[in-house]
Amino acid sequence: MTDTATNDRFDVIVVGSGGGLIGAYAAARRGLRTLVIEKTEFVGGTTAYSGAGIWLPGNPAEVRAGLEGGPEAARPYLDAIIGDDAPVALREAYLATGPAVVEELEADPAFGQFEWRGVPDYFWDAPGALRSGRTIFPTDLARSELGDLEPLVRRPLWTERWGVERGDVMTGGQALIGRALLAFMGTGNGTVRTETAFDRLIVENHRVVGVEAITNGERVELLADRGVLLAAGGFERNRELRQQHQSPITDEWTSGSPANTGDALLAGIEAGADTALLDEAWFAPGVIAPDGLPVFYTMVWSGIWVNADGKRFMNERLPYDRDGHELLRAHRESGVSNLPTHWVFDQRQVDNDAFRMLPVDPPVPDWFDVEAWIDAGVLIRADTLEELAEAIGVPADALGATVDEFNDFARTGVDEDFHRGETPWDRVVAHMMGKHTDGPNMCLGIIGEAPFYAVQVVVTDLGTKGGLVTDDHARVLRPDGSTIAGLYASGNTMAPALGRIYPGAGGPIGSAMVFSYLAALDMASAAE
Ligand SMILES: Cc1cc2nc3c(=O)[nH]c(=O)nc-3n(C[C@H](O)[C@H](O)[C@H](O)COP(=O)(O)OP(=O)(O)OC[C@H]3O[C@@H](n4cnc5c(N)ncnc54)[C@H](O)[C@@H]3O)c2cc1C
Repeated sequence: MTDTATNDRFDVIVVGSGGGLIGAYAAARRGLRTLVIEKTEFVGGTTAYSGAGIWLPGNPAEVRAGLEGGPEAARPYLDAIIGDDAPVALREAYLATGPAVVEELEADPAFGQFEWRGVPDYFWDAPGALRSGRTIFPTDLARSELGDLEPLVRRPLWTERWGVERGDVMTGGQALIGRALLAFMGTGNGTVRTETAFDRLIVENHRVVGVEAITNGERVELLADRGVLLAAGGFERNRELRQQHQSPITDEWTSGSPANTGDALLAGIEAGADTALLDEAWFAPGVIAPDGLPVFYTMVWSGIWVNADGKRFMNERLPYDRDGHELLRAHRESGVSNLPTHWVFDQRQVDNDAFRMLPVDPPVPDWFDVEAWIDAGVLIRADTLEELAEAIGVPADALGATVDEFNDFARTGVDEDFHRGETPWDRVVAHMMGKHTDGPNMCLGIIGEAPFYAVQVVVTDLGTKGGLVTDDHARVLRPDGSTIAGLYASGNTMAPALGRIYPGAGGPIGSAMVFSYLAALDMASAAE
């Protein structure tokens, strides 16, 4: 593959080729010989699956779109919603560095300009929240522009999961990774080794000086004079760690990349690193699809979610991460199971292309085929609500009462229990999926057109979020606050700068970009 190195000694080693690729680029661009090792045959990780929304307040693409106030405008927002869950220094570094990262990338033709698109911030009531949103995206990339590098980029989620042709143009996370790979290799200082699995850190005199990795079944030693950046994603695919920190969530419910088994996290812990927020993930609702696995789903158009008692328990239209957290909180605290949740709707939802709204808008033909979903046993259909209740195992009288009450809310326009339709995000969904007209609230539609349906919803995630504690240069810290020399972490391997919250579309990738970039700057400055 793209390994042009003649020896196994580098300045910088980056473990993992998702968001870490931005740090690898920044290091290589500063003249450091930089090696990226990647466990799978593909570059990109979950980042390549993503929509590539990037939330970095005050960046040049925002400024071009006319947004004012710079990164400072987002400080009150982050302060209010993160609180004490993550060190202030990390969010200050995030705010201060975000625009510089975008500016540096845009100066490289391989990246070109990013584009701002209006996705409202997720905590609309917090001070400093921007209802028009701050998220930017990379532009699409023709596969042909990648030349020999093209086969290296991880396939879109819909290709890997459903075998759909990937098309000639890369969009979203594919485009971001494709562009980052082009730019990294374009520096002339970059090397990528796929199918090379990081196993452990090499430590000499209390300093990390390299890694041991497994490639072609053989253990190799790779040395890094300036440092090692652990950017190997979260531990979403590690069943044991999931059970230990995040029960009842399992590794099977994740939407993260297949090799993210927490190897870097465990190695960091072994090297003496502190950890934080291991109970956290970028949560989201996931609809169980015919293959028995959840699909990250963001937009409930109609219908309601009910628990094992046949009752509603939340506003089903919260932004996805808040939705995921609320599903979990209700499950853990109410004493009534809502995992799985039953999403109950009527024929109108089916007629409105029920599950069209995946975040990455997959070109999956016949994605929602009612009969195939029913045959697979994941969609239940019944002529009456009573029969539906029986089929999904919830009390029929309770489900009937819940639907009656919800239908009254739809007529009056006020969801007295959970206030659906009262927030900007709720209304964005209505604008994208269609407005209800049964009453004055465009987000509430009567459930009344037989047949009736139910599908299961669980908590999926876009990667776990807790990890190795770092300072504001992405240097990994011990519990006593001292740095482990030569060791850095970013992305979902790192304890999150954003604490327990997801400020707006692009928080995960924004964080991964900023802290891998800061690690690169620190390693580069050590050379001066
Ligand atoms: C469908 C979907 C849409 C999303 N949309 C967005 C969005 O628009 N904006 C946003 O901010 N976030 C989005 N996310 C979330 C976001 O993509 C991830 O949380 C983030 O990209 C994780 O970045 P990372 O660099 O930490 O991990 P990854 O991108 O997963 O990269 C980690 C890499 O490390 C490799 N690796 C693991 N172990 C080893 C090892 N031992 N040795 C070598 N390599 C190893 C993995 O194979 C992987 O390639 C989305 C997620 C999904 C699933």
